[in-house]
Amino acid sequence: MPVPRLEIRNLVRLFDGRRVVDEVSLRIMPGQVTCLLGPSGCGKSTTLRMIAGVEMQDSGEIWVDGKLVCDTVFRVPPERRQIGLMFQDFALFPHLSVAGNVAYGLKGSKDEKRARVAELLERVDLLRFIDGYPHQLSGGEQQRVALARALAPRPRIMLMDEPFSGLDNRLRDGIRDETLSLLKEEDTAVLLVTHEPDEAMRMADEIALMRDGRIVQQGAPYNVYTRPVDRAAVAFFSDAN
Ligand code: ADP
Ligand code: MG
Repeated sequence: MPVPRLEIRNLVRLFDGRRVVDEVSLRIMPGQVTCLLGPSGCGKSTTLRMIAGVEMQDSGEIWVDGKLVCDTVFRVPPERRQIGLMFQDFALFPHLSVAGNVAYGLKGSKDEKRARVAELLERVDLLRFIDGYPHQLSGGEQQRVALARALAPRPRIMLMDEPFSGLDNRLRDGIRDETLSLLKEEDTAVLLVTHEPDEAMRMADEIALMRDGRIVQQGAPYNVYTRPVDRAAVAFFSDAN
């Protein structure tokens, strides 16, 4: 059996005695994109934050490449988890150049860093802005720099929380496709959080449909869409459109 890049087992998070994440389990293979899809407030971001290590679960386990990363007694700190983050409110550093943003958190010699930065900017087609500053870029371009920054240290896992929701509709599809092809090239396991069925249908290899803290259905996008598990799932897919 191949070992999942990321496996979470029975994650639980309580707020004020309420289970906002309730026994969530997932397995994601390298190069696979899983979308955690569900309405606002269902527990998606909390799940992601526990995997990132910035929030502690009340019970359950997180495994990366077959190694335990976190349970209720043992915990690898966030900066040692080799996880890339792309969050809606995780903006570029305005005082750093584009190169400075992408190099942030990279290790190695100056030349090695410069080479990796140039490679990634080339791949998001923004090499010409290497010495520019975030305010000189459009929203879509900034998002591509954020993607380059997240991928620069070669994370094993990429966690993305509604990363495209700030962008206007015309740009969004192009950036989704571009992001996807870059992630596939890097063989990263991706957990993408979204409340938009369209986005999940477009990007996911697998959809995990979440409601009230639980995963209520999981499978290939086509199957989840054409065979919704219950009336609420039907309503969710149709209301959102
Ligand atoms: P989603 O990302 O799916 O919109 P969240 O994970 O942000 O959902 O939140 C899930 C639930 O947990 C919500 O009801 C939210 O109000 C609650 N919640 C999130 N963070 C906290 C917190 N720090 N304290 C109390 N309740 C919280
Ligand atoms: Mg959220």
